[in-house]
Amino acid sequence: MYISKSFIPILKDIPSEAKIKSHQLMLRVGMIKQSSAGIYSWLPLGFKVMKKIEQIVREEQNKIGAQEILMPTIQSSEIWKESGRYDDYGEEMLRIKDRQNREMLYGPTNEELVTDIFRSSIKSYKSLPQLLYHIQWKFRDEIRPRFGIMRGREFYMKDAYSFDVSDEEAFFSYNKFFISYLRTFKRLGLTAIPMAADTGPIGGNLSHEFIILAETGESKIFTDKRIFDVETGDIEVEKKSLEDLRKKYEEFYSVTDEKFNKDEFEKTVEKKNRLITKGIEVGHIFYFADKYSKPMNAAVDLPGGKKDFVKMGSYGIGVSRLVGAIIEAKFDEKNEIMKWPISVAPYELIIIPMINKNDNTALIKAENIFYELTKNNIDTVIDDTDENYSSKIKKSNLIGAPYQIIIGKKSEGDLLEFKETGKEAKNLPLNEIIKTIKELKVKN
Ligand code: ATP
Ligand code: MG
Repeated sequence: MYISKSFIPILKDIPSEAKIKSHQLMLRVGMIKQSSAGIYSWLPLGFKVMKKIEQIVREEQNKIGAQEILMPTIQSSEIWKESGRYDDYGEEMLRIKDRQNREMLYGPTNEELVTDIFRSSIKSYKSLPQLLYHIQWKFRDEIRPRFGIMRGREFYMKDAYSFDVSDEEAFFSYNKFFISYLRTFKRLGLTAIPMAADTGPIGGNLSHEFIILAETGESKIFTDKRIFDVETGDIEVEKKSLEDLRKKYEEFYSVTDEKFNKDEFEKTVEKKNRLITKGIEVGHIFYFADKYSKPMNAAVDLPGGKKDFVKMGSYGIGVSRLVGAIIEAKFDEKNEIMKWPISVAPYELIIIPMINKNDNTALIKAENIFYELTKNNIDTVIDDTDENYSSKIKKSNLIGAPYQIIIGKKSEGDLLEFKETGKEAKNLPLNEIIKTIKELKVKN
């Protein structure tokens, strides 16, 4: 793949409409293009990153036994009337009429639809737990869509739903998602802190938001700094150890502003450990028992012959928002260097040959290296444009591949000028480079 033939519309200047660095970078390197307020097209670079994030989210859902489905974006109003949310949801819901004048809507979330799917087939406690998820576009007519895809009106979300026979079993499901979220965000190179949260229009009684620290975030948070040192460990399927892990986090005061209580904060957290700051919500999990199953009559047979409504939870991750959140966490704005975690990088390596008008040896060398890297499944692109060295490096730094190979004066014989983006170059043979990158990918 060549940069000259890639659809990467780079802008020289910072677009004035973009107020935060993730939005600025996404526009500058052409990851997205706005189509109307809060609605975006995803261009190749942005789309690639989002798809890589989606895949990691998917793998971690599958690991805890969640099953992937795909529900439609358009839903019928009937089920929302059953749950009682059709009127409550308000103006955030985009309501549509079809040609028969039936009331439809563009789904802002899927509790009703998934409950309807569940109740039509699952009748016995023997089939529980059921963990179902999908990754699908949502629409919420936000009052203030802003910061690009961070608060869009149309956005891409992973939403999962758990169905259990009892509160105790449901907490076990909740804890599975809790731990799997920590692992998902870790694979994305992020430290996301679980914070006790309000349940909002979803309703219910237990909830955590997963927040990454960022000055530009919209969530205000109050936390005991020591929560950053909690070790996640591996997912254990044993109930007790999962609960212990969640409790390790809950030892430290850590809440969003709706749950904030000044007296409690000051009483439980020593002054030196108090941190009041802002963050970006990248995930949100809820336990709400029979809030939907009861009005929608989703019940199962119990062991003794009785019937009861299933106990449900729901679990969201903002897949499209994560693209921006990772930039907020990783972009060195001052030096204009983006470094994507290799797990989601739009390219893993950029080859930068210094091309001379009458001599194409550097380009040919670049192509040979490209084929070697591609054979080894390293996602690579060649900057074959005729720009000068510094403008190529600048562009490559903005695109943010974690590695660069520069083919210029300094690359003699078998040794190549190899750079971890933003760091000093080293001279290494190609097989060493391949080994380094492969090892890093295995760790991810
Ligand atoms: P927020 O408080 O940011 O509005 P929410 O509590 O309404 O979020 P949920 O309903 O829990 O969000 O949705 C799950 C996840 O979807 C959120 O944690 C967030 O990452 C993402 N998300 C929610 N609204 C948007 C939006 N307008 N644009 C992009 N991502 C969003
Ligand atoms: Mg919201």
